[in-house]
Amino acid sequence: MVDFKQNLPTIPGTWEDEFIQQKDVKVVSPYVRYKCPKCQNGLVKRTGKSGVFWGCSHYPKCDYSANDVAGKPVRPIRYLCPLCQSPLKKLKTKTTVFWGCSNYPDCSLTLENKDGKPIEGKKYPCRICGHFLVRKMGKSGHFWGCIDFPKCRHTLNDDNGSPVLRK
Ligand SMILES: [Zn+2]
Ligand SMILES: [Zn+2]
Ligand SMILES: [Zn+2]
Repeated sequence: MVDFKQNLPTIPGTWEDEFIQQKDVKVVSPYVRYKCPKCQNGLVKRTGKSGVFWGCSHYPKCDYSANDVAGKPVRPIRYLCPLCQSPLKKLKTKTTVFWGCSNYPDCSLTLENKDGKPIEGKKYPCRICGHFLVRKMGKSGHFWGCIDFPKCRHTLNDDNGSPVLRK
């Protein structure tokens, strides 16, 4: 047995003293002292559809949430849209995972997903204006549009991630 008393400051009559005198106390409360950076209330470990994550104890008043990495709340890295600087969102279809702009439908930029990160694919130049094309999400699937949209309205069809001429 390790004597925890030796490693702790002994201030007589504090709650710490009482705590040490108890034996075999396991703390199983999910309330670990991580503070919500938004509202300064506690964060709570929760289990969602995609696994364990941290959420604010004042949810739904406060919607802060963070990923769980080795028992600690870690805010996921945000990736910003190269067109409008809005955060990108990871999106899933039945067959693919890709990143889309959260400003959709105002901004329909999409990026490919690689190891959970958005990557810019190969750059294809716009034949009309010399800027380059970006992969976007339309009503009927992906297509390629000029990064200078709406100034340049050149678009191409998408064929498995590459731009192809419209038929
Ligand atoms: Zn909060
Ligand atoms: Zn955008
Ligand atoms: Zn163009």
